[in-house]
Amino acid sequence: SHTLTQADPELARAIELELERQRRNIELIASENFVSPAVMEAQGSVLTNKYAEGYPGKRYYGGCEFVDMAESLAISRAKEIFGAEHANVQPHSGAQANFAVYFALLQPGDKILGMNLAHGGHLTHGSPVNVSGKYFNVVSYGVEEQTGRIDYDKLRQIALQEKPKMIVGGASAYPRAIDFKTMAEIAREIGAYFFVDMAHIAGLVAAGLHQSPVPYADVVTTTTHKTLRGPRGGMILCKEQYAQSIDKAIFPGSQGGPLMHVIAAKAAAFGEALKPEFKTYQQQIINNAQALAGGLMKRGFNLVSGGTDNHLMLVDLRGTGITGKEAEKLLDEVHVTCNKNAIPFDPEKPFVTSGIRLGTPAVTTRGFREAEMDTVAEIISMSLKGKDNPAAQDQARTMVKELCDKYPLY
Ligand code: PLP
Repeated sequence: SHTLTQADPELARAIELELERQRRNIELIASENFVSPAVMEAQGSVLTNKYAEGYPGKRYYGGCEFVDMAESLAISRAKEIFGAEHANVQPHSGAQANFAVYFALLQPGDKILGMNLAHGGHLTHGSPVNVSGKYFNVVSYGVEEQTGRIDYDKLRQIALQEKPKMIVGGASAYPRAIDFKTMAEIAREIGAYFFVDMAHIAGLVAAGLHQSPVPYADVVTTTTHKTLRGPRGGMILCKEQYAQSIDKAIFPGSQGGPLMHVIAAKAAAFGEALKPEFKTYQQQIINNAQALAGGLMKRGFNLVSGGTDNHLMLVDLRGTGITGKEAEKLLDEVHVTCNKNAIPFDPEKPFVTSGIRLGTPAVTTRGFREAEMDTVAEIISMSLKGKDNPAAQDQARTMVKELCDKYPLY
């Protein structure tokens, strides 16, 4: 019954320092968020002790009556939020969810058409270093150099020419709305499966602020920890006709026992997503992204595609004399956290890059609104333009502290 501080001060210190970092820094990593105390409590609960291989009512272990209640809540809430016919809430992560979809619907060697990683796609959409690129024959689509946007006519041409067995929609670094309806029509035209990974935008979709892929796609996956503001984890939604193969692909196909504490935390987060305040929160994420994008462009920065429709933007640093890697480090020094990110047609190597990706879900949870986002744009501008000016760096750090003190976390 010892607390962590008593039982293991060395580890407790690492966690305490991380809490301090989260409180001190402005968090602009587009895939991160801060969960509510309720989600945290569910995740830190005794459900971590329970083995529950199988699904509610059909388990391979005794004593599952209460974890069944938690998983059933997560499933029914997920179906209600997204209007889905079937939900599997067991994937340990987004990558696991995607792997299970491929395992359920494809054979090794089948052809998939996904978004190029270098243009904003995800590793699990066919990158050569990922299992999706090793087991499948991958063709890719990207964005246009002039517009930074997907050209759906070109996508259709590639699909007609290559005849993939599956088209994969969704992205990790695409600042514009995605037209899932058009992609579904292309998939139907060639008799391909249409699979959407909506990880980044799931919260916006839940709130009705981005076109939902659920009516159009055969299968939809998401992570639960990004805009959706739940615990780290994954989920699969699908049409009833795929329910059995998807469930089998997760267990016993690719996972063992589900993480029941994480599933409980998913249920808690989905409960929050069903409340009216969640829609207000998601709208504020978009408003804040608009304000940050406007604030950066006003200060002379270029954004890929000239702006954003969602929660994230890509700053194109070409011509500034600063690489993405350098920008990430400069911002970290003033306590602004973001990640370097390749921009489409990036002349730099992936570990250097010419861009940074910025997102607003976490700062919006913290309480920032449009006015604060303009200050964040000023901080970024001062830090990057004043890279050789310690006084500018000090001032930027002071401005970060003022904002973080004004909007305390946890
Ligand atoms: N899919 C997309 C579109 C993502 O952006 C990510 C994470 O960045 C994932 C899947 C992978 O999720 P996880 O890190 O939980 O495996």
